[in-house]
Amino acid sequence: MALWKSRLEKKRVLIADGGWGTELQKRGLPPGEPPEDWNIHRPEEVGAVALSYVEAGAEIILTNTFGGSPFKLAKVHLEGKVTEINRKGAEISKQAAGGRALVFASIGPSGEFMAPLGTVSEEDMMKGFAQQAKALAEGGADGIVIETMMDLGEAKAALLAARQSTSLPVAVTMTFDKGPKGFATMMGARPEQAAAELEKSGADILGANCGAGIDQMIELMKLLRSATALPLWCKPNAGLPELIDGKTVYRETPEMMASKLKALVQAGANIVGGCCGTTPGHIRAFVLERNRLTG
Ligand SMILES: [Zn+2]
Repeated sequence: MALWKSRLEKKRVLIADGGWGTELQKRGLPPGEPPEDWNIHRPEEVGAVALSYVEAGAEIILTNTFGGSPFKLAKVHLEGKVTEINRKGAEISKQAAGGRALVFASIGPSGEFMAPLGTVSEEDMMKGFAQQAKALAEGGADGIVIETMMDLGEAKAALLAARQSTSLPVAVTMTFDKGPKGFATMMGARPEQAAAELEKSGADILGANCGAGIDQMIELMKLLRSATALPLWCKPNAGLPELIDGKTVYRETPEMMASKLKALVQAGANIVGGCCGTTPGHIRAFVLERNRLTG
């Protein structure tokens, strides 16, 4: 049995890591600078973020490769470094994990629209994501997590690319907002539709990340659970970002978020981590609460 599956069976709920961008900024990454560049130039800072999550008790950590697709890296003139940046990102997290945590390597959106809406063909989209996924596998990743996806077509292209270019398990999580007509991604995909189509396309794990905080994530898990029996992974933000005195602030505390873990799990979540604004403190609180609930 795959490692992630046997660990999930044993613990019933796995805790994954929290925000990366916000943690790297605390370590001096200037706003607007590509975080992935630090895999090459500041690997010790990237490794410190990964290690802080392992030490908080996360059983799955991610990698600093969210913007590591060739499309995204081309925007910051790093298109020649796709393989190096992603391979290095996986190696840094693997080293920090030291066998204590599994490493699911992060793949974020391309930032491009797929044809016919945009100019990138499905084939080129897949080729780009395949290059990234292959480098992540070479760096030793135990799995891939395709996250923050808004377009179902692009999510499926990334999923198929990861499937074809690696033998790793693949998770896909999309970002849904709640509007007057219910939850949908910015490109109009509804949770139940996303779950059904991504399951059909071969995802091992499905889920949702980012968004407006943990209460909406509980509602989302119920919707996704109604459409699939696959394991669900959620990464709520620590609330919506608020700008206070020129600083971005997230208001949901570790205690507040951990107090809702039970409801999140009852709604269908199997793997729980955090997105923007969550810290090692949030993950530690999730671990303690999970141990209390399942112990
Ligand atoms: Zn986020």
